[in-house]
Amino acid sequence: MRYAILSDIHSNAVALMAVLEDLERRGGADELWCLGDIVGYGPDPHRCIELLRRLKCVCISGNHDLGAIEEVSLASFNPDGAQAIRWTMRQLSAEDASFLSRLPPTLEKDGFTLVHGSPRQPAWEYIISLSSAQENFPCIQTPYCLVGHTHIPIAFKKEGASVSAIPLSESIGQVLGKTPLILNPGSVGQPRDNDPRASYATYDSGSGIFRLHRVVYDVKAVQERIFNAGLPMRLATRLEHGV
Ligand code: ZN
Repeated sequence: MRYAILSDIHSNAVALMAVLEDLERRGGADELWCLGDIVGYGPDPHRCIELLRRLKCVCISGNHDLGAIEEVSLASFNPDGAQAIRWTMRQLSAEDASFLSRLPPTLEKDGFTLVHGSPRQPAWEYIISLSSAQENFPCIQTPYCLVGHTHIPIAFKKEGASVSAIPLSESIGQVLGKTPLILNPGSVGQPRDNDPRASYATYDSGSGIFRLHRVVYDVKAVQERIFNAGLPMRLATRLEHGV
């Protein structure tokens, strides 16, 4: 089986389309997984939900998805994020909102736990440090865990009592073996690792290789759509720097 793992699309349909085209060029995937934050920040929430639904993508919820259906308070978001969520609420069809409200906070599939933030706090915790990874490994019942939320691609591995970080890059595939791993594919729609290219990963259960991919997309077109929608300008400028 070939899996494509996407996270933090954030209503960036241009980046999502570029990722899906890149995936096709690589031979496609049998299953598409999305680790939450389909909406928020960006200008195309309806289009992103529509695309994922059409592709029968396996999705879990992120904090912005929950914000857009008023499952969490807007007070939990920074001012730009909250403004974008208020705007997003007005763009969603009843079907879109119903789709978001049915997303589970976590899923176990084919040896992976899928979660947006962390196993112990699915919507909110950032696994960004060795200590946060260390504290979450005991909460994982599957060999591997996929997380998003930080918008930064990275892996954490646990060997005995020690946890270490492994940088993920396009050039080196990660062979998934017996070592427990937490893997983050980065963000499709708002990367924050100083690389503006859309980020996603593939996993081939035949070879056991997990691989990161980066995709150039038309950032200017998205910036223009953010501007025309009246969304905060910072949400447009950060895209060209990947921050
Ligand atoms: Zn996010």
